Amino acid sequence: MLVVMSSYATAEEIAQVVTAIEREGYVARVIKGGERTAIGILQNRGPVDPAPFLLLPGVKETIPVSKPYKLVSRELELTDTIVQVGDVAVGGDHFVLIAGPCAVESEEQALTIAHSVRSQGARIFRGGAYKPRTSPYSFQGLGEEGLKILAKVREETGLYIVTEAMDHEQCNLVEEYADIIQIGARSMQNFTLLNRAGKAQIPVLLKRGMAATIQEWLMAAEYIMSQGNSNVILCERGVRTFADHSRNTLDLSAIPVVKKESHLPVIVDPSHACGRRDQVIPMSRASVAAGAHGLMVEVHHEPARALSDGLQSLFPNEFAQMVNEILPILTEEQRAKLQQDRSG
Ligand code: PEP
Ligand code: MN
Repeated sequence: MLVVMSSYATAEEIAQVVTAIEREGYVARVIKGGERTAIGILQNRGPVDPAPFLLLPGVKETIPVSKPYKLVSRELELTDTIVQVGDVAVGGDHFVLIAGPCAVESEEQALTIAHSVRSQGARIFRGGAYKPRTSPYSFQGLGEEGLKILAKVREETGLYIVTEAMDHEQCNLVEEYADIIQIGARSMQNFTLLNRAGKAQIPVLLKRGMAATIQEWLMAAEYIMSQGNSNVILCERGVRTFADHSRNTLDLSAIPVVKKESHLPVIVDPSHACGRRDQVIPMSRASVAAGAHGLMVEVHHEPARALSDGLQSLFPNEFAQMVNEILPILTEEQRAKLQQDRSG
């Protein structure tokens, strides 16, 4: 349930409501909106009786929250969350381009790709230092050395860094070096990791699990938010279906559904959805048309020699082509910004 305060409510009145909620054995979460403050009631089992709160001074109304996710829900927060990564805004009316290799392989590889995607308007660089691989014999990532390379990329190019942490120990290091912690599809329900990311001081990019419903995905985001970190970016990356013409099936309808259900930004990773380079540009266009707040795309200058996911990585000139093709689909403001980032 949500206790909505009147726009004249004082800090004291808000504190009184928090105390009253805690007295009933619940957890209170104060949500400061533009107009007025609301207080979410968390950790209730079953419906909450509004009576003890309705008559308190400063309370305007109570609204039952029907969804199992609360902090993540539009019912609790009507306005879009804008996740700020340095001077880059993710969410709302903004559009963000994230690009880079699947894995950090060397300083030269990362810097070459970073300069190239930067010149095409990407503002955030992706690249795994810890790689979740199906086979234990495949390249597992450079670990902390990879994180150091990523820090160098930021220093040299001004790109912000997103990179995956597969467990809470890696989270400590990722938080030290990167600007966004990525939680991969395979880790979407690693609840210890979600709780740890929820205590991080930097935003979290939460990928949808490969067999997760939207509700399960949003509940994973709820874990992060319940620990105090509201800076969550959702990322659709395709789900497993019977189809074998692509690596996964990009669930484009997830975008309007998530935007209706939640105030959090939602971006698309067409690379892991498709698994094949020739599908990435059309699916990027489709994702933008469906209203994604951004794209995260794998790019490699020598994909044939890539240590992972070469088949789905765009060549730099294809990434430039992708940008050309999404530009007309963006809003006028988004287009102007991307063009500016591209020339800057
Ligand atoms: C990745 O983005 O590096 C990755 C491993 O993707 P996913 O978790 O979506 O498979
Ligand atoms: Mn990959």
